[in-house]
Amino acid sequence: ERASAAAAPVQDGALADGTPVPLLANLGSPDEAAGAVELGAEGVGLFRTEFLFLDATSAPTVESQQASYTALLEAFPGRKVVVRALDAGADKPLSFLNDAHEENPALGLRGLRALRASEQILRDQLTALKNAQDATEADLWVMAPMVSDAEETRYFVELGRELGLKTVGVMAEVPSLAVLADQVLAIADFVSIGTNDLTQYTLAADRMLGSVASYQDPWHPAVLRLVKSLGDAGAAAGKPVGICGEAAADPDLAVVLVGLGATTLSMSPAALADVRQALAEVTIEQARAKATAALGAMTAAEARAAATAA
Ligand code: PEP
Ligand code: MG
Repeated sequence: ERASAAAAPVQDGALADGTPVPLLANLGSPDEAAGAVELGAEGVGLFRTEFLFLDATSAPTVESQQASYTALLEAFPGRKVVVRALDAGADKPLSFLNDAHEENPALGLRGLRALRASEQILRDQLTALKNAQDATEADLWVMAPMVSDAEETRYFVELGRELGLKTVGVMAEVPSLAVLADQVLAIADFVSIGTNDLTQYTLAADRMLGSVASYQDPWHPAVLRLVKSLGDAGAAAGKPVGICGEAAADPDLAVVLVGLGATTLSMSPAALADVRQALAEVTIEQARAKATAALGAMTAAEARAAATAA
């Protein structure tokens, strides 16, 4: 008993009625793993692999990637670790994947689009992940960023399976993917919602541009309605739909996201304690009532107020 208490110093995330809501960490380097475990991370919900290669001028080798992924997985024995394929472009350009001359890089050849155009880089990354999966005890899930529809979902899932990965999914960041949630969830093993980009694209407001920062609010009912259709499609397909955007770090919004059907929440490790506390105070019925109130609002501010009052 002592050993397990040391391995899991904080209780697993759950609602007041016992509904489990695993609380996971967003990480950008294996060096951040130990700190995340100390803060109560039950696993990793988003490992941003592009941060390992921001300074690289050529594509990383299978061997160098495998070492990084193995170090990450070794920090989470028996735990779920969701690794994202390289999300290059816009706010995270990589010189070996992106063209610096796009006029609208957020709408350009980025994420899975860029990987598909340089498929050997994607194959090498998935091979490195497969080797790390085989060498460790963690439960590795792999997902693609910036996926637009079910055809792109099928491309990524089939390639991942061909290369030996066990659990393959996609991020929901582009509104078209959320609109097609039922088609996507028929193919992918799971979906993880990136609320930062989903908000940027739903409201058509550049997340890097201060003058439109007020639009970048995941409480907006348009964003919440897309989350609900993804949650509903996940429930119908019996597949997990997690959240890994900043929205999950807002304790009040975290409750609403669970009410909309999110099955896990991933966030910066510093936010885990407050979110765990907020979830422990509501039942699933109460979370759903707050979600319903927020969905009926006309603005982000009204959605927040309605959820708090419900
Ligand atoms: C997101 O878009 O919400 C996300 C988690 O990915 P990133 O912030 O790295 O674009
Ligand atoms: Mg994103």
